[in-house]
Amino acid sequence: MMDFHGTSLIGGAFVPSGAGRVYHAISPVTGESLPGTFVDASSEDIDTAMQAAHQAAGELRRYTGARIGDLLDTIAEELDAHAEALVTRANEESHLGAARLEGELARTTGQLRLLADAARNETERLRRTDHVGGSTLRLLDVPVGPVAVFGSSNFPLAFSVPGGDTASALAAGCPVIVKAHPAHPGTSELAAGAIHRACERLAFPAGTFQMIHGVDHATGAALVRHPHLRAVAFTGSHRGGTALARLANERPHPIPVYAELGAANPVVLLSHALASRSEVMADTLAESLTLGVGQFCTNPGLMLMRQGPHAEAFERALVQRLAAAPEAVMLTEGIRTAYLAGIERLTHTAGVVSCHQADASDTLVGPSLMKIRAADALDEPSVFTEVFGPAGVLVLADDEVELVEVIQSLPGALVGSLFADEADGREAVEVIQALSDRVGRIVVNHVPTGVLVSAAQHHGGPYPATLHDRETSVGTRAITRFLRPLALQDVPEAWFA
Ligand code: NAP
Repeated sequence: MMDFHGTSLIGGAFVPSGAGRVYHAISPVTGESLPGTFVDASSEDIDTAMQAAHQAAGELRRYTGARIGDLLDTIAEELDAHAEALVTRANEESHLGAARLEGELARTTGQLRLLADAARNETERLRRTDHVGGSTLRLLDVPVGPVAVFGSSNFPLAFSVPGGDTASALAAGCPVIVKAHPAHPGTSELAAGAIHRACERLAFPAGTFQMIHGVDHATGAALVRHPHLRAVAFTGSHRGGTALARLANERPHPIPVYAELGAANPVVLLSHALASRSEVMADTLAESLTLGVGQFCTNPGLMLMRQGPHAEAFERALVQRLAAAPEAVMLTEGIRTAYLAGIERLTHTAGVVSCHQADASDTLVGPSLMKIRAADALDEPSVFTEVFGPAGVLVLADDEVELVEVIQSLPGALVGSLFADEADGREAVEVIQALSDRVGRIVVNHVPTGVLVSAAQHHGGPYPATLHDRETSVGTRAITRFLRPLALQDVPEAWFA
């Protein structure tokens, strides 16, 4: 059995905490406590961590990109070396399955290595030099300073302690303080241990990476309010992200909260594609909708098409697949309750008709599919909001004009998918034009789930999908969130190294 410290990682050690609130990880399968007792950081702990981070910030900003790149590679190495323990515990805490979690770990280490290369290529933070008005102007990017990271429950690795936010903040040369997600505190401690060992191996300052526990929201709030903090990276619910953004705005010196939130992502199915391959698309979309019990921010929550016999055939095929999908446990009791409440809300929305509804037991849930005419949906835009879980809504338009009108009225989303054949070309142009104003990523003939990690990726989108629509949490551009421009006029290079 694994042993856990259960305390926060502060100033280079898992320190015993004062009288913080105590909690346990809960098995999503049995509802019982898993090994390990975790204790919230006290306000003194947070202050100690922030002092260490502040000190580390002064040192890290002088490190070369090569040195930072080595740290990110060493973190990836440490995670790989402890893959079995990480995957085992993450599975106990999330029940997402060993295969999915092994893939998520590979994605996490791949992302660390991509950002390591990006940091190395930025050995010089100098953006440009101009000789103007008899002066020499140098424009630099400098790290903003300590960054707080809040991860989400549905990605215990890739969007949590060792995930993209931590990796991109470190790549920028910023110290990181993670608030561990209470749904996977054991995985968080194991990942924090790996990052800590990498920092020790390369003799990075003790405040480079720290992690605090906080089942009580007061802990996260104290972190966000701390005067040494310079930015927050958040992945999670709209409620959580906006609550932290309010706090950050109320500070005497407001700071940005880069919040990646959820969305009901639109999938548009055009007529020729529906006519030629509705069965194949039903297979693909059923799989995407139920993947990880639908617990993906990129879940295909809305499926838009023109009504008619081909749409009816697609609906029948999709219902058949969803009816055959096994029921499964969700990440937490809170997420299960919210999913069932979301379904209840949708079923009582004017104009919504249920196509398929799985029975829910005390612990298990199944997929749900509903439909609504586009005209009714335009009157009831609440159908366009995310229900986190395997829930889909078919939106049926009378014609192409109405289909485009629906897309134009959607709230901001992370991703829009278009299924189209060659013969749909003219309509596809209209749809892509409309989608480009509503989403951060457009994919053609692929499902929205599965965000490729690469320099050309953008994982973000207009509000309410995120709080900063120009920023991404995936890919190398994620680093720029944690850099600040600084212009130097006639400052000798030796005076600002
Ligand atoms: P969550 O409940 O918002 O949790 C995220 C973190 O924020 C947790 O540590 C949570 O602690 C904390 N938190 C939440 N509300 C807070 C508050 N008012 N004050 C202080 N801290 C607070 O999100 P989740 O359930 O883990 O994740 C599911 C959501 O994340 C879905 O909507 C999904 O679409 C979205 N998501 C988005 C992305 C993306 O990249 N855009 C990726 C994955 C997931 P507590 O648990 O103690 O509340």
